[in-house]
Amino acid sequence: MKITIAIDGYSSTGKSTVAKQLADWLGYIYVDTGAMYRAITLYAMEKGLIADGFFDKDSLVEKLNQITISFLRNTDSGKAEVCLNGKSVEKYIRTLEVSSFVSIIATVSEVRSKLVQQQQVMGEQKGIVMDGRDIGTVVFPNAELKIFMTASAEERAKRRYHELLERGDTVKYESVLANVMERDYIDTTREDSPLVKANDAIEIDNTETNIDDQFHTILQLAKDRIAKRI
Ligand code: C5P
Repeated sequence: MKITIAIDGYSSTGKSTVAKQLADWLGYIYVDTGAMYRAITLYAMEKGLIADGFFDKDSLVEKLNQITISFLRNTDSGKAEVCLNGKSVEKYIRTLEVSSFVSIIATVSEVRSKLVQQQQVMGEQKGIVMDGRDIGTVVFPNAELKIFMTASAEERAKRRYHELLERGDTVKYESVLANVMERDYIDTTREDSPLVKANDAIEIDNTETNIDDQFHTILQLAKDRIAKRI
């Protein structure tokens, strides 16, 4: 019997790493919901609807029915890539610039309800690992396993900073730390579906845990839940 696994938490806590590991191991579908919010952010940037100190929310809401977000498997890498109106935008959505606007876009209720609806359809058959901010609270409140991931802001910024450097981006650690803290603030204080630990979620602080140990802990939790459903 397949279950639904919801992984929520702060930015750069390694949610996607563990979610992908779990999905691979269990043969489940993995969905990165942050990529969906990032793709809409890219659309808003390209259309000039958001910039420093400026956001034309009404025009974005008006144009939402012209935006289609989907996932396509890249035949070379074998990895799923997020697509904006049919075109993969995976390469463009992880920049610090997109990160600096995405949490503002994610406060818009119309954006959230469009994406939440799509995410719920993706999970109808179970057998899914989804990561984000509101998966255990809003998207799948009945998920059999909910994980809430945390780590210190400095450790998270350090991880994200090295990721960006590896991609060839020129960024300062201080700017990455400021972005991580700003997103934490917006994500936890927004009115619609703020980032909050679900009552039945298991909290994992991985400031000092290595990735393998963390994976085995969570995999064991998933196996226990699956066994209970058989
Ligand atoms: O996971 P990632 O860091 O890529 O998410 C980018 C942003 O998208 C988050 O900081 C948050 O503002 C928003 N988000 C959200 N709800 C989700 C996933 C992401 O609000 N389920």
